[in-house]
Amino acid sequence: MKSIKENTFLIIAAIFAFVVINIALFYVYPGNFTNIAYITFLVIPLFVAIVLVFTRFSVLFTSRISEQEDEKKLLRERQKEIVENMVEGLIVHNKLGKILSVNSTAERFLGISASEILYKTKAEIKNKPSLFNALFESFGSVSEKEHSFKDKYGKELTFKIINVELSKARGEKLKIIRDISREKHLNKMKSEYLTIMSHKFLTPLNGIKWTAPSLLDEAVKDVDKERFVKNIIKSTDTLIELTSRLLRVTEMEEGSFTYKSESIDLEKIIENAVKDRRDDVAKRNITMTFNKTITLIPKVVADADRIKVVVDNFIDNAIKYTKNKGKIDVTLEVEGKNIKYSVKDNGIGIAAKAQADIFSKFFRDDRAIAMHTEGSGLGLFITKNIIEEHGGKVGFISTENKGSTFFFTLPIKK
Ligand code: ADP
Repeated sequence: MKSIKENTFLIIAAIFAFVVINIALFYVYPGNFTNIAYITFLVIPLFVAIVLVFTRFSVLFTSRISEQEDEKKLLRERQKEIVENMVEGLIVHNKLGKILSVNSTAERFLGISASEILYKTKAEIKNKPSLFNALFESFGSVSEKEHSFKDKYGKELTFKIINVELSKARGEKLKIIRDISREKHLNKMKSEYLTIMSHKFLTPLNGIKWTAPSLLDEAVKDVDKERFVKNIIKSTDTLIELTSRLLRVTEMEEGSFTYKSESIDLEKIIENAVKDRRDDVAKRNITMTFNKTITLIPKVVADADRIKVVVDNFIDNAIKYTKNKGKIDVTLEVEGKNIKYSVKDNGIGIAAKAQADIFSKFFRDDRAIAMHTEGSGLGLFITKNIIEEHGGKVGFISTENKGSTFFFTLPIKK
């Protein structure tokens, strides 16, 4: 079926052809035709053709205009959606401080709904949050500034506010609000971390430096020399562990941290990990038990060495952050199509405000640092990466001063 558009053009073409033939006939046989014939074969068809051409073009023209209008409408809608979905908060106001536009991210950052502030001046808006006031403070000669405050959980938040002259003629300004809390927090943690790491490296290195020369001293007794050698070995072990953790993190970030794929005996890995810490927990009167809820543990395909790192990390943390005489439960169970390993302690727990950052690189909770000055803040970051690379999940539940349960799941091999 041809479209109406194409048919109209065919009809117009046919009429024009008809008119042209008639003109030719009138020219060849002049005087043989009456006026009526002229009108019927020439004027009327010509008139019809012209009307059709006009109608066709006006239809084309109007449909083109409506297509353009549709496109414009779509463009406006799209722009609105882009503005609404931006990660930055946007607020437009005029010279008098009247709010003319606000996107949903700005509503979220400010904790105010658009209906409470739209078309109102700053003075008319009640209970303004500090971030809102910061939007209207002088920018001086700069176009951006930072504003920090604590949220209701006491968490430090930092926003960058960028001042853009939207229209000089209308006196309208755009304020772009960017949440840089995480960036700030990580930078702070990074510099704190570098200081801590330098000390961590310096302590064992100094230990080695001061004890090694005594080994050459003939006046030093053999028993003391033996003690020094043991200390040197312990210090080098600490240095090796620290360096290998740093190396692991770098490899993970570069994507060169490789994994083997083998059928592993998770039960054995856990049993050994628990056994290896028997002396440590006994010294601190901590009870650690390994519970299996099933007798036949299903096979899991994973990299045994990497999984051992994760299993050890949960147990080491549980021991580190549990007070003397505490209790630790290590459990291996099947949950749906996964095998689940969890370590539950009744230790210091994790404060609510620190929970979101627990798997971040270098993160250590203040209370954990106070209890255990040593620690890299890399263990859980490495753990999360390893488990997710194996198609599993990591998580925890924790209550401050009550304890924590860290767990991971791995898919069971069919
Ligand atoms: P590290 O233990 O070396 O500091 P991790 O990455 O293993 O590094 O742990 C990061 C942080 O998570 C710890 O510093 C501590 O604040 C918190 N954490 C981990 N496990 C526990 C736990 N079982 N109880 C309380 N806090 C924990």
